[in-house]
Amino acid sequence: MSETAQSEDFFIYRVGNIEVSIVNDGHITVPLAAGLIPGVPLSEVQASLREAGLPTETVTTTFAPLLFRSGPKTTLIDTGFGPDAAAEAGSTRGLLVGNMKANGVDPADVDVVVISHFHPDHVNGLLSQGKPTFPNATVMVPEPEWRFWMDIEEMKRAPEGRMSQLFQNNRRIFEQVGERLSVFKWGLEIVPGLEAVAAPGHSIGHTAFWLRSGGEQVFIQSDLTNQAALFVAKPDWHSALDQFPNQTVQTRRRFYDMLAEKRIPLQAFHHPFPGRCHLEKNGAGYRRTPIE
Ligand SMILES: [Zn+2]
Repeated sequence: MSETAQSEDFFIYRVGNIEVSIVNDGHITVPLAAGLIPGVPLSEVQASLREAGLPTETVTTTFAPLLFRSGPKTTLIDTGFGPDAAAEAGSTRGLLVGNMKANGVDPADVDVVVISHFHPDHVNGLLSQGKPTFPNATVMVPEPEWRFWMDIEEMKRAPEGRMSQLFQNNRRIFEQVGERLSVFKWGLEIVPGLEAVAAPGHSIGHTAFWLRSGGEQVFIQSDLTNQAALFVAKPDWHSALDQFPNQTVQTRRRFYDMLAEKRIPLQAFHHPFPGRCHLEKNGAGYRRTPIE
């Protein structure tokens, strides 16, 4: 692969000796509804969207898993929604596998799949038509996330609706992983060059990552923020999807202050593709400068 391979679906850069590819999994656009950002009036949310030059009656979420090669190993961080979602009528998501294949990466060649947290846009791509999408991959999951979602008592306690559906979905997805599962702890290098970083809040075991090689580094934030137009500019807002709102905001600010101060590149799953930027402080929030 060369620099000329850059496209809006497959973006390549290097971190030292590691080749990183950001792969587009697509997007979802839904009508903007009250309650998306609890405690914030719709008019304020719309003002932020307008400021970013975005439509104000809808909100779009984008998805971009990360693939990297260090030595002979190919590692994928998060899976997108998967080929089954791509096959649904009118679907605009689940494009990861198609975009990998179009760029010469066969799902069977993936050695390791690392999961940041157990939400459908990150785990559902592990399965396609009931079979493993990445049949030869070890599936590495954060220990606190695994413990919570597989706990039968937690499942019984979960409120009906989104949380109970997440429990059911995670059981369905991880049932087929079987012996390929590997549970990791925070603070360790889990794949050569990749360190798992505690970043709880959005989910109980939500994990970010450092990717380092040859004196270079990138911070892979997973879901520290969702839509950049909303949560980077207004870091004290939290999404209805955040499991622990206060902790989400604290964790976000702690990492964003560090990244802004040290001018370290940030890679974000839900920011506009390819989701790579520098951050700087801007009033009570942050401003992102894309690196492309
Ligand atoms: Zn997500």
